[in-house]
Amino acid sequence: MADDLERRFPCTPGGALVLVQELVSAGMTNDKFLALRPQKDRKGVNSFIRYCKGKSNNPADSGFRPGGPNEVLHRRMLKHYVELRNLGHIDSPSTQADDLLESPADSPDAAELNSQALELIAQSGSLKIEDSVFENREFIEARVTIAKRDHSFRDRVLRHHGLRCAVCSVSVTNLIEAAHVQPVKDGGSDNVSNGLPLCANHHIAFDCHLWTIEPNSKKIVICLGLDSQALGIDVEMVEGKLSQEALTARYASFCSQIGSI
Ligand SMILES: [Zn+2]
Repeated sequence: MADDLERRFPCTPGGALVLVQELVSAGMTNDKFLALRPQKDRKGVNSFIRYCKGKSNNPADSGFRPGGPNEVLHRRMLKHYVELRNLGHIDSPSTQADDLLESPADSPDAAELNSQALELIAQSGSLKIEDSVFENREFIEARVTIAKRDHSFRDRVLRHHGLRCAVCSVSVTNLIEAAHVQPVKDGGSDNVSNGLPLCANHHIAFDCHLWTIEPNSKKIVICLGLDSQALGIDVEMVEGKLSQEALTARYASFCSQIGSI
């Protein structure tokens, strides 16, 4: 069986392309195709995709050379082919593909076979492989130390201050976070008077010192160069009982980092 398949779909650009075409028509997707390859080796698959899409005429880009690293991929795809056939997805292989495979891949007609296979795939439109969204990234292991947080903080803050961003109209529960007025990294507590309900955007902007709260008037203060419209802030002051000490410390931090008031 394996020998028959390898004769039918030889590990050459032409054989591999016909195999891919049949797999695609049987439900093979780009994701499944890429998943056949370990993440770190996806570059080879990307070259193959470029070749299939006609963006490269270099046979080496097909990624299929007997004895080469992609022979492993080819064998895996053959296994996939057998599985699909056993599941009844491939019961009448394309006659065009069969005709193409009449001539052995290693014959002098191999180049012609390859170009016909490419043409067949281009015509069939069945190889819908998009530009790859995968990239070979390097990952590093890192250890971080973070302060232990009280997971009830958000619940308590939202219960105390309400389920709405303190500075805009967002009131979707999943989008509301509990911001620490005095940050945890600076010793801020999980007391509700140190918590402010903010939508994710305004929480980020608050932590980036794009805006803050004047501790006495509780008026919104925005950093130079921005205005409330740009930040989507539609209140002039925040409501609710907040720790004066936390507001003062936060304001001092804002002034020292931005120096814009
Ligand atoms: Zn908001």
